[in-house]
Amino acid sequence: MGLNAPNAKYFCLYCDCDAESRWDMNQVWTNTGNSKSARKPSLFLAIDQEYYVPDELHLLLRISDVLIECLFNDLFKKKEFEKQIKPIIETIFKDLAILLEFFKTTNNKWNWTSLMGLDKKKMLEKFPVSQFISGERVKDIEQLWREFYRLYNVLRRSQLSDQEIYQYKIDVENWVQTFCRPNQGSINSIQKYGLYRKSDETPYMHVFAKHMPLFMQQLKANDLSLQTFSTSRIEKNHEQYMAGSMVGAQQMFNEWTMSQQDVVTISNRAEKIDDYC
Ligand SMILES: [Zn+2]
Repeated sequence: MGLNAPNAKYFCLYCDCDAESRWDMNQVWTNTGNSKSARKPSLFLAIDQEYYVPDELHLLLRISDVLIECLFNDLFKKKEFEKQIKPIIETIFKDLAILLEFFKTTNNKWNWTSLMGLDKKKMLEKFPVSQFISGERVKDIEQLWREFYRLYNVLRRSQLSDQEIYQYKIDVENWVQTFCRPNQGSINSIQKYGLYRKSDETPYMHVFAKHMPLFMQQLKANDLSLQTFSTSRIEKNHEQYMAGSMVGAQQMFNEWTMSQQDVVTISNRAEKIDDYC
């Protein structure tokens, strides 16, 4: 879309927020575009900036990556990871039917195989985070996972009232503030422990909090929702292909053949998008 790299100083396609202020939920931003960075030209000149709608699936994938990475990297530091923690996690993955394996890289560091969208959703909803963390941060980190999953499901709803969109805005800003909350209290008497660093807060989290509520309002005014633009269906087909099962292949074939109902649905969706643009 002609956007600079996510690690650029002015990283956002939709506003002039700079990387240093990304975590600051008190700042107010609108979807008016990035006037500060030396951007490359847009790929699609005929499409105005305001019509580049963020994909909810990619927000899920990239933000869950951060949550999972923060957890696993903490666990890898523990001496008992290989002999005690890893077998327990693998049993939980098996019970949840999640396809993930840990492996050592050539420089002897632990890593894990990439997760599909469906497996990430299962982890966010059900993985017992608190079983693997000790100390004051336990409940807050597990709540961070569950709350992100709840907010993602709000984002995906096809019908939302103005009040529900407003509440989403409040809740998602609180979520980001909790994610990068510093220690509270004095060094000798910490009242509330911090979770992650401000620098762990990503451009996707900024868009999740500062731009999605605006897009939700904008789309609602045009009788649309983020689901209209979602790539979830493509991802689902991709996951079935990767799973390589006969059932998945049959479902893909059935979807390719497209029932009469599918044609009507897709046609309606295209008409709605046409009207919007
Ligand atoms: Zn922005």
